[in-house]
Formats: sequence, C-alpha cells, structure tokens
Amino acid sequence: MLKIFRADLHIHTCLSPCADIEMTPSAIVKTAIEKAIDIIAITDHNSAENVIAAQKTAGNKNLIVLAGMEVTSSEEAHILALLDAAEGIMKLQDIVYKNLLPGENDERLFGEQIVVNEKEEVLSFNKRLLIGATSLSAQEIVNTIHSLGGLAIASHVDRDAFSILSQLGFIPEDLKFDALEISPNINKGKAEFSFKGYRFFPWITSSDAHWLRDMGRRTTSFYMHEPTIEEMRLALKNIDDRKVEWE
Ligand SMILES: [Zn+2]
Ligand SMILES: [Zn+2]
Repeated sequence: MLKIFRADLHIHTCLSPCADIEMTPSAIVKTAIEKAIDIIAITDHNSAENVIAAQKTAGNKNLIVLAGMEVTSSEEAHILALLDAAEGIMKLQDIVYKNLLPGENDERLFGEQIVVNEKEEVLSFNKRLLIGATSLSAQEIVNTIHSLGGLAIASHVDRDAFSILSQLGFIPEDLKFDALEISPNINKGKAEFSFKGYRFFPWITSSDAHWLRDMGRRTTSFYMHEPTIEEMRLALKNIDDRKVEWE
C-alpha cells in the first residue's frame, strides 16, 4: 500500500544569513509537526551545520528530516541537494567549503549565520561567505550529489535570479536534475504555461521558507512506501504507481 507523505523540501535555518533568527532547528521541527508536514529538508545556503540538530530534535517524533543543502553553482544557480543521512551531507559540505569564494560574511550586510544545537543553544557563528557562489559548476554539483546517493533539484526555476533558467537561459541536456522546483511565487497553471518545454522533468514545489510562518505554504505530496530518498526517487519517476502531486 502506498502512503501519502506531505513534504516541504526547502527550508532555511538561522544558519542562512537571509533567514529569520527564529528559524532554529527545534522551532522548525515543532512548526512542521503543527502544520502536519511529514517530511522536511533543511537546506541552508552552502552549509549543513544545522542538519544534525534538526534530525536530533525530530528524533522518533512523527517527522522525517532530510539532510539537505542549497548549493550555489559558479553560474550562480541554486541547486537543492537532498540526502537521507547527515553523513552524506557532511561530505558535500566539505567539498562545498573547499570551493566557496574566499571572504568573510558581513553580518551587518547579509545577516548572522548561527549554528545551534537541538537545545537552541548557540554553538558558533559561521564566518564563511555562505551567501556567495562556489567555484563548482552546476554540472559538477549535480554529479557530486548523485555520487553521494542524493537527489539534485533545480531550485525555484521560475525566479528571475539564482535559478538555472535565469542564469543559463535553458537547462543543458546533460544536466540530469531529478526534479525542478516551482516556487510559491507562481501557481501551477502559470508554471505549466511558462515551462511547458520542461515537462519531461518531474516537478515539485516547496516553501523556500526563511520565516516560520512560511513553512508549508507550498508542499508536494509523495505517494510511496516509505519516507526515504530512494522511494522519493521512484515516486519522481512514477515507478509502480508511485507519484508526486501538488497544487
Ligand atoms: Zn534559492
Ligand atoms: Zn532557498
């Protein structure tokens, strides 16, 4: 029997300079449960240092927290990496940190980058320039995510900045995204009209929440057996009646 899992796969914590300070891992987990979301992904810009705290907070509660990251390519396109376990995302983080543009975060200009634990205690302020690009091409990022067993999703393809379409104007054929993400900025009908040339990709939508109130404003329903990356990969490909749906 397939089950329906409501997923919001794009959520920023207080580690992202642009996110609200109240986006602590424990507040995010609490809000997700209140909003009856079954699966969330923590996807901070170019870092995953709050993933473990979110996974620990979720513990054996009725919520799956995927280990994610929103990586910025050298073309300044945002790409979501989604994995099951923190171990894999930490490997990606090592690669991303080695390829981040040099420089320090200017907290007054971009905001603070706060690493917290599951008890909401501040562990450190990340000084890296997380808001900047990496020197990794979109191709290199997608290939790296796949080599780690993760899903690579093109972020907010409808946005006129920091999306693969805004940066390249098209999606090169050899860029094997597992899905494209439509942002909450446009509805499904407009997306179907605007991006009809890209219907051969599976589509999802997510909140891209930077504030607690925005969590779950758009979710994707996955019809699958278990809340795992492998089942999500099969659902995106419509294998054996699995499917994804969103409004
Ligand atoms: Zn983004
Ligand atoms: Zn984002």
